Amino acid sequence: MLIRSKPDTVQKLTQMGDVTLFEPAGDRPHIEEGQRKPRVPQQNQMACITHLSTPKGAKPVLKTMVTTACEKDCFYCPFRAGRGKTRRMTFTPDELATTFDAMQRSGVVDGLFLSSGIIKGGVTSQDKILDTVDIIRNKYQYRGYIHLKIMPGAEYDQLFRAMQLADRVSINLEAPTQQRLHALAPKKDFADELLTRLQWAQQIRRDNAHLRLASTVTQFVVGAVGDTDLELLSMSDNLYRQIGLARAYYSAFSPVAHTPFEHLTATDPMREFRLYQSSFLLRDYGWDVEELPFEQHGNLRLDIDPKQAWAEQHLLHNPIDIMQAERHELLRIPGIGPRSADRLLRARRTGSISDIGQLRQIGIRAPEKSAPYILLNGKRPPTQLSLL
Ligand code: SF4
Repeated sequence: MLIRSKPDTVQKLTQMGDVTLFEPAGDRPHIEEGQRKPRVPQQNQMACITHLSTPKGAKPVLKTMVTTACEKDCFYCPFRAGRGKTRRMTFTPDELATTFDAMQRSGVVDGLFLSSGIIKGGVTSQDKILDTVDIIRNKYQYRGYIHLKIMPGAEYDQLFRAMQLADRVSINLEAPTQQRLHALAPKKDFADELLTRLQWAQQIRRDNAHLRLASTVTQFVVGAVGDTDLELLSMSDNLYRQIGLARAYYSAFSPVAHTPFEHLTATDPMREFRLYQSSFLLRDYGWDVEELPFEQHGNLRLDIDPKQAWAEQHLLHNPIDIMQAERHELLRIPGIGPRSADRLLRARRTGSISDIGQLRQIGIRAPEKSAPYILLNGKRPPTQLSLL
């Protein structure tokens, strides 16, 4: 596809490649393409384009940064100050906006995720992000999907502007507590620079209920500094309940050469996956964080889905009667999610559900997962199911 833009800008994008590899951004981070693959940076133009599931549908999204230069020194980050191996590139707002417009009009992308390193403080860097998107929205009249990063220390008015321009904003806590953040990124201030901005976002939404504003997400780097699943999920739960967080992202730590953490062990990607499963139980299934089956050291088991681990403990000997259970009880059963619980409730109104085949008919895709934990017609269904 021919992209008509300044050649040096396209070349720079190509050289930058997938610089935001470490920042998940879509709606299905737990199953997104590339999520489980080894994180080896690629250098080609297509590498900066990621197919994401967004609130506006599945889209090829340009994921890039205004600059890969940074004055902070987060221990895990390839762009940290002083890391000689990093090739630094910077776009002006105009060249980045013009190139995005050309790519979008050529049909190569339909969406933007824009982050940045920090130069001259968070406020100046945020201005560059906002200027870029101002041009994209107002000069080029792009109405599609935009996800923006909020810089640590960004001002209230900048956050408000970002929430007006974008569909989603990321305010990344990186760690679940001040102490863990200090071990990861000593120049970032947990409460003042980050948590306050998450609270502001909620305040902005409350004060401007008549406006269409971006949703808020955050990201945690998992497993580099002794953080536990209990800490990560407790903070996620607080953010879901108190500041209306749309989504928490968990990014399994992966060591980067020539950083202070280069010799640390990479976090098992399965841990990231279990965190997503648990996070959805908190956000979408009405679970309390204390109900999650943490082990003594505060982490979840890697070898079993947390919902199934809970069911093994609580439902194996006290199965749930499918015809009697409330919605929140149905949501405890492995294999039954919010949509299938609603389908079950609808089906119950028109007749009895007495065998496992009926569960499949009403749209429960894997009733064999549910079978050990339920009663049908007052009896446990057979757990060895026919494949037909
Ligand atoms: S502020 Fe961002 S880009 Fe800069 S070192 Fe930290 S994580 Fe990397």
